[in-house]
Amino acid sequence: SIVVVGSINLDVACSCERFPGPGETVPGDRIAYGRGGKGANQAAAAARAGAATTFIGAVGDDGARVLDSLGDVDLRVTRVPGPTGTAVITVDGRGENTIVVVPGANALLSLTDDDRRVVADADVLLMQSEVPVPVVLDAARAARAGGTTVILNPSPVRDLPDELWSLVDVVVVNESEASASASHLARIPTVVTTFGANGAALRSPDGEFRVDGIAVDVVDTTGAGDAFTGTLAASWDLPPAERLARANTAGARATTVAGA
Ligand code: ADP
Repeated sequence: SIVVVGSINLDVACSCERFPGPGETVPGDRIAYGRGGKGANQAAAAARAGAATTFIGAVGDDGARVLDSLGDVDLRVTRVPGPTGTAVITVDGRGENTIVVVPGANALLSLTDDDRRVVADADVLLMQSEVPVPVVLDAARAARAGGTTVILNPSPVRDLPDELWSLVDVVVVNESEASASASHLARIPTVVTTFGANGAALRSPDGEFRVDGIAVDVVDTTGAGDAFTGTLAASWDLPPAERLARANTAGARATTVAGA
């Protein structure tokens, strides 16, 4: 089983032919409200890939809408005062995106003793850096104590304590995250790097594995990395080359639809 400790957001997405510059207004042609947040997206992807998945997170008073969209995921979600985390997303004519994230309820997440037990009993703990660092560290410690494999997607990039890096078994990074955390990656047993349209690579004690990108008609790359990472976690009991292939397929498919 997989436990995701992470963010859940309301995504407000619009498209425009090209991004506005500072002080500029451009016309848009689509607006959509959906569920996002790297934690929730990766949990949804893991569940769709067939893994028994639990999501630990926090929402505000307006959280029902985003929770409804999580599919077959067990929820351990705290309701806190104030708004659910919200992401304001723009997608341009080439499928590139810009995103502003307001943390909202995600900033108020904390773990209960029961949450720590659930983490310790799981096979895999999957986390990102979109919830407070002390919560990520707390969960990683519980995982280590229980022999749970810790997969960290250090996204968005921020300073993380050395103790956290020392508790991580697997890191999943895109190219910019790879350069931002380069000094830490050498010490991590398994590192998976994604290269967008050019696929992904896995480096572990078992060797190095590489998959090419899959040619698809890109509509929107939002959530491609999350689909990849959630599917990778759900495939952790497979041989490395198969994990990578499944994750790569999920990442490519995620770019063919709008939104996360
Ligand atoms: P992120 O979305 O976190 O920036 P990437 O852009 O590296 O991460 O994409 C993650 C994965 O999603 C890639 O490894 C690949 O499997 C898939 N992917 C992303 N963009 C494309 C694309 N244009 N064509 C095919 N697959 C893609």
